[in-house]
Amino acid sequence: MPEGHTIHRAARLQRRALKGKVVRADSPQGRFAAGAAVLDGQTLTGIEAYGKHLFYRWSAGDTLHVHLGLYGKFRAFRREDPADPLPPTTAGTRLRLVADDIVLHLAGPTACDLVDPAQEDALVARLGPDPLRRDADPERAWAALARRTIPIGAALLDQRILSGVGNVYRCEALFVTGLWPERPARALSRPEFDRIWATVAAMLRDGEKAGRILTVDPADVGVRTRSQVPGGERVYVYKRDGLPCRRCGTTVLTWTSALRAIFACPSCQHAPAALEAAS
Ligand SMILES: [Zn+2]
Repeated sequence: MPEGHTIHRAARLQRRALKGKVVRADSPQGRFAAGAAVLDGQTLTGIEAYGKHLFYRWSAGDTLHVHLGLYGKFRAFRREDPADPLPPTTAGTRLRLVADDIVLHLAGPTACDLVDPAQEDALVARLGPDPLRRDADPERAWAALARRTIPIGAALLDQRILSGVGNVYRCEALFVTGLWPERPARALSRPEFDRIWATVAAMLRDGEKAGRILTVDPADVGVRTRSQVPGGERVYVYKRDGLPCRRCGTTVLTWTSALRAIFACPSCQHAPAALEAAS
C-alpha cells in the first residue's frame, strides 16, 4: 500500500499538471461513469492530500475523493500533440482525466467517489494528524496513543492515530528511534513520542521530495552522500529479517504486527532481555 509520501507527491505533481485547466473526465471501465460525467468539462481548482486520501476540487463545487488502497495506481502520460490518440486504458481504468497534453489514468482504487462537505468532514474526522500537512497537530496523536494499550508498532499503522505511515516507515522509524515495536503505545514517554513524530515527519517529507524511500544514514552503509547509497541498502530493517543489523550486526527479526510483517533489531531497539537472549 502506498504510504502518505506517495499520495502527497501525487497531489503535488498532478496539481502542477492539471490545476486551473478544463478537464475532460470519463470512466473507461464504467464503474465511475456517472461521477465522471459530473466532472467532465469542469476546471480542476485544487488537489489536497490527507494521509492516504486525496480530494480533488472542481469549479462547480464538486469534490472527488480517491483512496488508492492496496492496488490502486495512477499513470500519467504526456501527449506530444493534443490531437494524438489517447493512450490505451486497461480493464481496471476507473477514471481518465484529459487536459491539453496531460492524460491521467486511475486504476483499481479502493475509493473513487464524489463526496459532499458532510461526507468529507466525516472522513477526515476519522483520521489522525498527517505530519505532511501544515495544519498537523501532534498533540492529537499523543492524546490518541495515551489511550491505547496496543503496541506502538501496531499503533503507527492505525490511521486514526496518525495518518500517512505505512509498513516501511513504521519499521524504519521505530529502528531509528530505538523503540521496540511491542512496547505498549501508552507506555511511551513524551520525549519518545516527540522523537517518533519528528522522525516520521522527516521520513515522509524526504520520501515526498525524492519519490522513493531512503531511511539509512549514508555513513551506516559506508558511503558519504545519499545519492551514493546502493539500491539494495536504502533501509535499516524492512524485509531484512535474518540479516545482520547495519548498525550492530545482531540478526534482524520479523513477526506479524497489525496483520503486516514487522522487522526490528532486538539490540538497537531494546527488546526485552529474555527475547534478546533467545535471538
Ligand atoms: Zn542493531
